Amino acid sequence: DLLVVGSANADLVIGVERRPAAGETVLGGDLAVHPGGKGANQAVAAARLGARTALLARVGDDANGRLLLDSQRASGVDTSGVLVGGAPTGVALITVDPSGDNSIVVSPGANARLTPEDARAAGTLIASAKVVSAQLEIPLETVAETVRMLAPDARFVLNPSPPMPLPAELLAACDPLVVNEHEARVVLGEAAGGTPEDWARGLLALGPRSVVITLGAEGALTADGSGAYDHVPSPRVDAVDTTGAGDAFTAALAWRLGLGEKLAEAAAFAVRVGAAAVTRAGAQESYPTAEELTAR
Ligand code: ADP
Repeated sequence: DLLVVGSANADLVIGVERRPAAGETVLGGDLAVHPGGKGANQAVAAARLGARTALLARVGDDANGRLLLDSQRASGVDTSGVLVGGAPTGVALITVDPSGDNSIVVSPGANARLTPEDARAAGTLIASAKVVSAQLEIPLETVAETVRMLAPDARFVLNPSPPMPLPAELLAACDPLVVNEHEARVVLGEAAGGTPEDWARGLLALGPRSVVITLGAEGALTADGSGAYDHVPSPRVDAVDTTGAGDAFTAALAWRLGLGEKLAEAAAFAVRVGAAAVTRAGAQESYPTAEELTAR
């Protein structure tokens, strides 16, 4: 029912006292390897909630690729659309200092080799999805090609991350465009006004059918085509680690929209999932199951 088209990365994390300067070597703590990437995160988040979920992505024929396939399968994701080979699995090299600040180098690797041709070869998978959710850690042309292959009554959800100016054809397909505050500002460029309502108005003017702006602990603002704005508050929680919260939110939103819920209704579910995700460390490791969500 839900197809996620996007990235799969291995996050390689090392704690350091301080970052090395050019030419310098520092010693860090033990390496931790976590499955990540926005596409892989979204697929796991939705599947853990009970959504029938498939992932269209590309990983390398290597240990990191197997780690990602394993974590998808363990969560119940249909991995028949995960292509293997062509380049090493994408990695994020992350150092975290004692204050919690991180520095990250991303090697897109196989993610950059997920081509429009790959999307065409996955035509049945794409055309049979009720809702397709994409991000921008794969080539923009591949996302654009995916949109051209959607079933006529399918719904397309885009989180433009990393943010960049978007072609009109892609924007017109988004229902909704889902952005956090930073992404909203970049997509709006010069036109970025003051309040979230201003951003939503500006984003709608770019052509998407609807817009959702996530606002961290403040929840989300939804704006549908009819001109209705809804503030959807997030449950109050003790935030431990916000990594991957936006991915969990977007996956939950996309799934519920595919079930036929209205935008504000789906967002009210999604903020609960986002809030649950920030109460535990990590990205995929922090995502709630349906049972955990109702028990909260
Ligand atoms: P991103 O992770 O993309 O920066 P946000 O920070 O806006 O996105 O978070 C996405 C969603 O996760 C929010 O809409 C909210 O539901 C939830 N969330 C994030 N941070 C918190 C928080 N501190 N308390 C409660 N919910 C949060």
